[in-house]
Amino acid sequence: MMAQKIDADIISKSFSTLDIHDYGDVLQCMRCGLCLPSCPTYRTDGVETETPRGRVAMIKGVIDGKLPANDEFIEHIYDCLDCRNCQTVCPAGVKAGELVLEARHRIEQNRPQHVIKKFMLNYAILSQNRLARFLSPMKIYQRTGLQALIRKYDILKLISDDLRLMEALLPPLPSKPLSEDLPEELPAQGREKGRVGFFLGCAMNLIFADVSRASIDNITRSGYRVIIPKEVQCCGTPNIAEGERKVYREMASNTISLFRDKRVDAIVTDCAACGAELKTYSEIFAKDGGLSQRAAEFSSKVRDISEFLDTAFDDSMVFGPVAGKVSFHDPCHLRHAQKLILPQRNLLKRIPDLEYSELSDEGQCCGSAGIYNITHRERSMKILRAKTEAIDKTGAEKIVSSNPGCIMQLMYAKREWQKTWEVQHISELINRSLRTKEKIV
Ligand code: SF4
Ligand code: SF4
Repeated sequence: MMAQKIDADIISKSFSTLDIHDYGDVLQCMRCGLCLPSCPTYRTDGVETETPRGRVAMIKGVIDGKLPANDEFIEHIYDCLDCRNCQTVCPAGVKAGELVLEARHRIEQNRPQHVIKKFMLNYAILSQNRLARFLSPMKIYQRTGLQALIRKYDILKLISDDLRLMEALLPPLPSKPLSEDLPEELPAQGREKGRVGFFLGCAMNLIFADVSRASIDNITRSGYRVIIPKEVQCCGTPNIAEGERKVYREMASNTISLFRDKRVDAIVTDCAACGAELKTYSEIFAKDGGLSQRAAEFSSKVRDISEFLDTAFDDSMVFGPVAGKVSFHDPCHLRHAQKLILPQRNLLKRIPDLEYSELSDEGQCCGSAGIYNITHRERSMKILRAKTEAIDKTGAEKIVSSNPGCIMQLMYAKREWQKTWEVQHISELINRSLRTKEKIV
């Protein structure tokens, strides 16, 4: 979503105060090129300006006054998926993905904002009830059979490929948000070990209600009381990805206060993007006098659902059998931003009769990346094609993940390209296993 007019000089000047040492010391980039094969935009486009190394060099060029922050520069900055795969492989510790986000912040502070973007990031996102109201017409569209008709005759293809994709990405919506269906507190099943706060993110609450219901059930089965603050706002990922920091700060500050009052041992989320963002509050607010300590306390308690359950389910926990072959698609926000690889695999390997098969693409992005699949449709689809080929090679019947964007993207691929594998969130599969055990016992 590009804004209208830009003044390259003003944007360039704003880069002069950017401290590159905050991003793994960009000067340490040896230009070795090890990050190139890991970068999805290099894999699709094959040009230097679409590599982590190239983006780092361009940002450095703008800081040093050698390159203008013009439209071309901005385009390369927005072509990045913020997958952070480059950060996983860089031997020098250069944080190219995070540096790109800082560059977007400088750009957005100094150019006029697109009206839709402004509306979404400054207004709609502030309340989950508001977001629910925007989804209401889509529920009517799905329930009246209009969606089935439109899809059957592929009517939107005649209007716009972008519109068709937006429509095709939307999974069946729940009748109401999960927050309307749950009490604020649920007791542990069995002996209570402690208290867990559950961060019910927007997409999970409004789109994947059954997944979070399963996540919460899994937590109570692990022996923890679950507290679900209903007033929770968005974690801020869309804002930070689009360079917006004012509303982001307000929402983060509210979330930190909300959970502080609940006296919980851990704060769990089943959305990888939310988890990565909530864990980052400590870094983002590290230099913010009023918020730094509270943000650090908050972030230290945040756990992804797999990370939490892998520890909370002790050896006495018995899993029921689920037959089939499964593979795990690592959301970038889990593998590269949170550096979590083992917990989700440990859990899947504990399920009897479930054969685990590894994807061979070293944690490549699926191309979803927030709204990247809409704003960069063609490149996103190329990336998704490569992902589906990697899934096909495993022979898996189920592809499991833990991020709503990835799940929507994979569900789209399944429908569009007639794949036979089933797409699920890891919480659903674990819950099924635990419930199967109940029937056996
Ligand atoms: S960003 Fe890291 S991996 Fe990439 S060229 Fe620089 S030092 Fe090498
Ligand atoms: S964050 Fe991902 S898309 Fe962006 S430069 Fe790094 S590897 Fe490439």
